[in-house]
This record gives sequence, C-alpha cells and structure tokens, in this order.
Amino acid sequence: MIHIALHFAVPVVVALAVYRSRWRRAAFVLIATMLVDLDHLLANPFYDPERCSIGFHPLHTLPAIVLYALLFALPLVVGRKADAPGLRPAAWTLHLIGLGLLIHMALDWSDCIR
Ligand SMILES: [Zn+2]
Repeated sequence: MIHIALHFAVPVVVALAVYRSRWRRAAFVLIATMLVDLDHLLANPFYDPERCSIGFHPLHTLPAIVLYALLFALPLVVGRKADAPGLRPAAWTLHLIGLGLLIHMALDWSDCIR
C-alpha cells in the first residue's frame, strides 16, 4: 500500500521541487507513466507482492530502462527552444515521460531490495 502511495507522492514532490511554475502538468505526466504497469497484465498472476517487477515484466527490463533514460536525456540536448530558454512543449513532455518512467523503475526496484 505504501508502495502505491509513493507512486503518487514522489512524482508530486519532484514536480513541485523541479517544475514549480508548471507543477500540476508535470505531476500529471509523471503520474500517468504508471500506465507502464499495464505490462503486468501479461503475467500470471498479474500481481504478486513477492515478485520483483524489475527484470520480470517486459517494460521493466534493462533495455526498456535504457530507453527511458534516453527519453529523459535526449530532449534536454535536442529539444531546446531556439529563441528562448526552456524546452519545446513536445520535448518537455517526452523529458517528463522519461523522468516519470525512471522514477517508477526506481520505486519498483526499491521493493526488490528489502
Ligand atoms: Zn511497475
């Protein structure tokens, strides 16, 4: 139960700390990345509190996590506005999706090490 609460609380805290002027939109995108857990539907049983999601579910594997890191970092390099500070809207959203997925993986991983 605490684990699920963290999937909501951590994105809100990160959005407030890093994206203060647009924190609501940022928190929405970060929380929406929980949709990555739809890959649990491929497992039987789809939920097992004793199972470590990292490395088990397809969207929780190392290649996927590398992709999430690229999604987080690449918009910072190629998504800058030409005439003003900040990222273009699509780049900002992709950056947040990558960040949300990395936060999600970190929280899931924290469940694997207890
Ligand atoms: Zn997950």
